[in-house]
Amino acid sequence: MEDKTAILVIYTGGTIGMIKDATTGALKPFNFDHIYDQMPILKSFQYQIDFASFEPLIDSSNMKPSFWVKLAMLIEQHYEQYDGFVVLHGSDTMAYTASAISFMLENLNKPVVFTGSQLPMGVIRTDGRENFLAAIEIAAAKDDNVAMVPEVSIFFENQLMRGNRTTKFNAERFNAFVSGNYPPLAEVGVHIRYHKQIILRPNFKKLKVHTQLDFNVSILKLFPGISENVVCSTLNIPGLKALILETFGSGNAPTDAWFINNLESAIKKGLIVYNVTQCKSGSVEIGKYETSIDLGRIGVIGGFDITTESALAKLMYLIGEGYPKERIAELLHTSIRGEMTVQA
Ligand code: ASP
Repeated sequence: MEDKTAILVIYTGGTIGMIKDATTGALKPFNFDHIYDQMPILKSFQYQIDFASFEPLIDSSNMKPSFWVKLAMLIEQHYEQYDGFVVLHGSDTMAYTASAISFMLENLNKPVVFTGSQLPMGVIRTDGRENFLAAIEIAAAKDDNVAMVPEVSIFFENQLMRGNRTTKFNAERFNAFVSGNYPPLAEVGVHIRYHKQIILRPNFKKLKVHTQLDFNVSILKLFPGISENVVCSTLNIPGLKALILETFGSGNAPTDAWFINNLESAIKKGLIVYNVTQCKSGSVEIGKYETSIDLGRIGVIGGFDITTESALAKLMYLIGEGYPKERIAELLHTSIRGEMTVQA
């Protein structure tokens, strides 16, 4: 019997579909209409596979939130028609896009699998081919007629990870992403092994798409020797509503009076400050060390083990939704799309 599963592949650009420019030799995106020439094997899938291509195609370093809105709306528009979605995207900002899309798509009950590659599809040793084929299979996978992975994920090399848990950590190796605080949702070898107990379950509610993102958010990465000038310039950015403070270790920061006082007065004036660790694994624990006690006292909100990418997307989403500050603070402490592990 013919498999009626339908998958929509959305091509946004990135290495996976790039070719060398004949004159400059630099990599640039190619027209997706040529995908079947690059990968004739696609024709052998039993599922219906349709393609949508973004115009213009972009290197993901040019990613903008307006593009996330476009992507979320495209998925919404085709949501009923398809069983799953594969998004081909440059790896550079894929973790940001996957995080943003996870917040924007509430009640997602179908797979949205992001993938890309380190080598272009046209290159003999490309990793794009395996990534693409596995992503299609995962997006189509069902158990008892229910999607196996009804959440936003990233597939790279042999691991399927929760999208809002990932960070790009390698610019060269095929396993470009790390999910330091959450185990893989599935591992691909001879078989695809799904770890069902840690995959989000569908709630069978109607998809709700949120497109009101607020961009008045910034990131300040602490470093030894950070000056008052740098901190104050950031805190005084006109219109700034939230700041992600990338702290040391388990959420630690300098104890200098100028640092704490400036943060405190910015918080008093209404700035949301979200404490996220610079470490790729582990959690913020405000108060564990002396160097974070003051942060807790002045109202810095701890982000547990959330990634910076996910924190950024979550803040844009929560502020965009227009929630009052107290509710935002509450939700920053709550895992709303499986993006963090809340510690008691
Ligand atoms: N610069 C490329 C991009 O992010 C790299 C890649 O595709 O992996 O679009």
